Amino acid sequence: MKKLLLSIILLCCLPTLYARNHDSYPSYESYIQYMQEISETHKDICRLDTIGFSVNGRLLLCLKISSSPNGEINKPKFFYSAAMHGNELTGAIMLLRLIDSLVTNPDNTVNLPHFPVVYICPFANPDGTWVGGNNKPYAAVRYNANYVDLNRNYPDIRNGRNTDGENRQVETEAFIEYQMKEKFNLSCNLHTGSEVFNYPWDSYISERNKHADDDWFKTLGNDFITELNDESGKYFTDVSSNGIVEGGDWYVIHGSRQDWSTYFAHCREVTLEVSMDYIVPENTLDNYWHKLKNSLFVFFDYCNLGFNGIITDSITSKTLADVKVEMEQYDKDSSQVFSNDYGYYFRPILDGTYSVTFSKDGYYSKTYNINVTNSLEEQNVELVPINTSDNEIKNTTNISYKIYPTIAENEITIQIFGNCPQHLTYTITDMEGIVKITGRVKSCTEKINIGQLSAGSYILRLNNNNYPLSIEKFIKK
Ligand SMILES: [Zn+2]
Repeated sequence: MKKLLLSIILLCCLPTLYARNHDSYPSYESYIQYMQEISETHKDICRLDTIGFSVNGRLLLCLKISSSPNGEINKPKFFYSAAMHGNELTGAIMLLRLIDSLVTNPDNTVNLPHFPVVYICPFANPDGTWVGGNNKPYAAVRYNANYVDLNRNYPDIRNGRNTDGENRQVETEAFIEYQMKEKFNLSCNLHTGSEVFNYPWDSYISERNKHADDDWFKTLGNDFITELNDESGKYFTDVSSNGIVEGGDWYVIHGSRQDWSTYFAHCREVTLEVSMDYIVPENTLDNYWHKLKNSLFVFFDYCNLGFNGIITDSITSKTLADVKVEMEQYDKDSSQVFSNDYGYYFRPILDGTYSVTFSKDGYYSKTYNINVTNSLEEQNVELVPINTSDNEIKNTTNISYKIYPTIAENEITIQIFGNCPQHLTYTITDMEGIVKITGRVKSCTEKINIGQLSAGSYILRLNNNNYPLSIEKFIKK
C-alpha cells in the first residue's frame, strides 16, 4: 500500500509526458524523458546511447533502432541527426516522429531482413536549443554554449586541422568519437534556413573537385525529392530548381560535419535543409511530417544498393577489421570504405560492374569483379596472410633456397640460388606422414603441382642426398 501511494505521488510530481504526436517543441527534460521512455518501452529493438555531454553538461543522446539493438549485426548502419545548429528545430521534430514511426510497427520496418541499423540523434546541440533554460526552446540559438558554430568546428578535409580559429568543442569531440566507433555507412544531418538536399563536398565547388560518388549522391537526391509529398511543387526549390545542390556550389564552407564524415569516417553524409524558417510554427509541424516522411525513408532504401560482405583471415577464419575496399579507376579523395570491427563492410554504389580490391597490411590483396543490379550484392572475402617465412632465404650446407608460398592452391615453388645441385629431391606428406608427391629438383626454380591434393596441411621435405635439408609446412587451399 505504501509502495502504491509512493508511485501515485511520484506520478503526480513527474512533468507531463511529452506528447507522442510531437506537434510541439519539447522542454529539455521532456525530450530526455521521451528518449528514455521509448528505449525502455521498446527495448527489444532500441538501445539508448549517450554520445557525450554538451559544454553545460546536457546529454547528447542517440537512439539505436535495430532488430538486434544490443549486438552487432552485419547490416549497413545509418545515422540521422538534427539541430546541430541549436535553433534549427524542424528536423529534430521530424526525427522524433521518425522514431515513433519506426518503433510502432517494427515487423514492417526495423525487423525486415534488409532494413539497416538506424541511429537517431534528434538534438545534437542542446545548449544552443535550450540556451534560455530547459523550458520550451523559443530562445534557441545557432551556437553551442561557447558561441561556436559546430558545423565549422570539424577537422578540415584539406589539412586535418580546425580552420575556424576555435578549439575543438566537446560536442564535436563526442560526435567524432561516436562516429569513429560506430563506423556508420550513410548519414544525414537535418538543418533549417533553406529547403535543399546538399551533398559533398562543402569544401569544393563541383567544377574543381567532385566526390567520386557524385552520381550516386545526385541519384539519391533526385529520389529523395521525388518522394516528397508536396502538392504545391514549391517545397525544396529555394536554392535550386531540382532541389539538390553540391555543397560548395551553394557556398563553400570548411570544417563541416558533412565533409568530415564523408572524408575521415568513410561515410556518405548529406545535409538536408528542411524548412525556410529556423523554428516553424508548431501547428505546421504535422504538415512538414506529411511532406517529408516518405523521403526520409529513401535513405534506408539506399542501404540496399551496392555490395557488402564479411572479410576473414583464410587460416584462422577470424573476421578482419580495417580492410580497405577500393574500386579501381573510381575511388579518390578517401572515398574507399573499410571493414568495421566485425569484419563487415558495405559499399553503397549505383548499378554497374566494378573491379574491387580488398587489401590490408600483412595479407595478399584480392580483386573481384562485382556486378550490382538494383541489389545489395554479397561478396565475402577471405584474405590470405603473408607469412614472413615466405620471403626468407635459407642457407643450409651452402645451399641457399626458398620455398613458397606457405599457402597455395595449385603450385609450390622451390627456388635454389647459386649453383643448382643435381641431387636434391623432395617429398610431400600429409600430416599423418603418408607420402603424396615425390620428385627430383630438376631446375633452380622447381614448380611442384599440388592441384590434386585435397585442402589441408602438408609437410614438404627438401632432401640433399637423402638427408633432410629442410622441412616446411604449407597449406593447400
Ligand atoms: Zn544549420
